[in-house]
Amino acid sequence: MPADTAPVRVPARRPAARDTLSRRGGRTAPWVLMYHSVGECADDPYLITVSPDRLERQLTWLNRRGLTGVGMAELLRARAEGRGNRLVGLTFDDGYTDFVEHAVPLLRRYGHTATVFVLPGRLGGGNEWDELGPRKTLLTEEGIRAAAAAGMEIGSHGLVHQDLTETADEVLTDEVRGSRDRLQEITGAAPEGFCYPYGKVDARVVNAVLAAGYTYGCAVAAGPLTGTHALPRAYVGERDTDARLHLKRLRHLLLRRTLPYEAGHAALPYARGAAPGARDRAGTRPAEGPPVPPEPRGGQDGR
Ligand SMILES: [Zn+2]
Repeated sequence: MPADTAPVRVPARRPAARDTLSRRGGRTAPWVLMYHSVGECADDPYLITVSPDRLERQLTWLNRRGLTGVGMAELLRARAEGRGNRLVGLTFDDGYTDFVEHAVPLLRRYGHTATVFVLPGRLGGGNEWDELGPRKTLLTEEGIRAAAAAGMEIGSHGLVHQDLTETADEVLTDEVRGSRDRLQEITGAAPEGFCYPYGKVDARVVNAVLAAGYTYGCAVAAGPLTGTHALPRAYVGERDTDARLHLKRLRHLLLRRTLPYEAGHAALPYARGAAPGARDRAGTRPAEGPPVPPEPRGGQDGR
């Protein structure tokens, strides 16, 4: 379905000074929200679906806070230029057809963009990896091009959605490099970003993503490999009201996870063979700050 071409309507925003916490420190990890599917879905065991109405509320919450959602490549470029304070990364995993149908019109209406991580090995197929369903359809080549034409960033989620930490080397190369080549054929531009299926990542997989030429990688949880090629993200779902979003943002700001390897990509540890399991300052610290309701199981592992 073609993207909404209605004029972009951006509500008035509060002055930037209201969100004072985000002005502290420039090396903290960016706040990146992780979505999957957008639609109406009553039976959703993995909690991967947010309704259009809920997404609209979440986007207007960003607007009221003076925050703008952008794709990851734009977010990282802005941060490198010192102008990322009011930006939030918006990501949609798996590349469902409902991204073009429901998410893109809302994103455009409220003045945001996003990255959609697609599966060029399952064009027009479904999410068979989610054993319990619900069955959802994935973007075709045409759908991917429609998302790009609407101003959204296209990233790779691999070819067919498998845990890359469990694959043979040649399969890993196919998934990482092969999906990049395929997306370049489809859109005319090589994707800048890769998103690890299930959020599963280790040093070997990160090295493969680096070697294939991606400038960033999206994970889910923070951990020993946290950096530009293993960016932590926050799950957002149907249950995330304004109050919960506020708490999630506060938690992000208070934890102040750092990205020690962001600037210039020069000091990335992976190529030097940093041992999996080595801890950096971003390591897995216990949650602090205001209480936030526990994430639903489906949101923790980044389907
Ligand atoms: Zn996925």
